[in-house]
Amino acid sequence: MPLQISERVKALAAQAQADLKEQFDRIDAIAEENTQKVLSAFQKHRVAEAYFAGTTGYGYDDLGRDKLDEIFADIFHTEDALVRVQFVNGTHAISCALFGALKPGDTLVSAVGAPYDTMLGVIGVVDKGPGSLKSYGVNYRQVELLDNAPDPAGLAEAVKDPAVKAVLIQRSKGYSTRASLSVTEIGALCRVVKEHNPNAAILVDNCYGEFVETLEPTQVGADLVVGSLIKNPGGGLAPTGGYIAGRRDLVEGAAMRLTTPGIGKECGSTFGANRSLYQGLFLAPHTTAQAVKTAVFAARIMELLGYRTEPTAQMERHDIIQMIHFGAPEPLKKFCKGIQFGAPVDSFVTPEPWDMPGYDCQVIMAAGAFIQGASIELSCDAPMREPYTAYFQGGLTYESGKAGVMLAVEELLAEK
Ligand SMILES: *Cc1c(COP(=O)(O)O)cnc(C)c1O
Repeated sequence: MPLQISERVKALAAQAQADLKEQFDRIDAIAEENTQKVLSAFQKHRVAEAYFAGTTGYGYDDLGRDKLDEIFADIFHTEDALVRVQFVNGTHAISCALFGALKPGDTLVSAVGAPYDTMLGVIGVVDKGPGSLKSYGVNYRQVELLDNAPDPAGLAEAVKDPAVKAVLIQRSKGYSTRASLSVTEIGALCRVVKEHNPNAAILVDNCYGEFVETLEPTQVGADLVVGSLIKNPGGGLAPTGGYIAGRRDLVEGAAMRLTTPGIGKECGSTFGANRSLYQGLFLAPHTTAQAVKTAVFAARIMELLGYRTEPTAQMERHDIIQMIHFGAPEPLKKFCKGIQFGAPVDSFVTPEPWDMPGYDCQVIMAAGAFIQGASIELSCDAPMREPYTAYFQGGLTYESGKAGVMLAVEELLAEK
């Protein structure tokens, strides 16, 4: 039985795709360059079947794990890396990086307004229980956005204090309304920090940004990048985990925090995950491009229907997130339902807004993923508040992402 898509939606989709030819060519060119970058790292490190065997227990001498660290370090142009299935999510990896870089009495600065929601509990801006940076005596300051954009003068002022030992730059917008940062913009912020406080470590929350451009933040001045393996760099295949890549001392600090002082990177078995991590990384530049194409397709079709999008369909992309402003709760809910109906997994359930912990309003989430919570797979979520904006991301293949978007538009336009 074919998917139920009307002639009207098919025509809109054809128009949207035709309008995106040049944008798709740009995305393909980036994927090609990044694929070559990954392939050459695999070849340099002589990836072979033996790397996939993995270990159990302590995980000593896990060849595949240690080589994957080296491969990530090459791809991100860094001294070292830590790629582990023991990171439970991106928040955990960022948390380890921060705890590794900061001591009591130090100050952390967030460079572009409030960080991602889950980081507030880590830093201690909101009380989520014991163990926050704040509870260990690490101070925190954030540079507010100026006209919803980075404020380099404010950043210069904030980092001058010699107690500032780490600066967190978040590449993607998270649930904020600012634009995601380009690697070039991150480079400019890094220069400001280096000029006014050369001792502060620059940590970039790289979530959703990997492989969207041909450069990564560590090539323009960042000391460390951190991200989740169930987003871009896992290529849709990594079953869980996170990565950190950067300066050797910072990676070591994070490793000591992930495991324990004296053990660091030496332990951590991979129990059969290595093959998926390698294959996922190999696919990641392509998969990321599929998600970016799905995002711009969604943007274009919604623009044709008169909705406001950010970024617009034709803009240069800095991450895989697509914002669509619905302006009212009902169309937003219908769109999310349609995305769910278009998923390969759990297509039969209906998402409803719910009181998600940590949010001051209800949140609706549509996702039907092979890997729980994987947002490199087609997914859409939205806080149920003005301006009723959907945050849309993922799509393992453009073809399936496109079908999901068409079904969402079908649901949106349905008279019921
Ligand atoms: C996804 C994400 C994180 C980490 O989220 P987890 O759900 O813990 O993996 C952190 N920062 C940003 C900007 C993100 O998009």
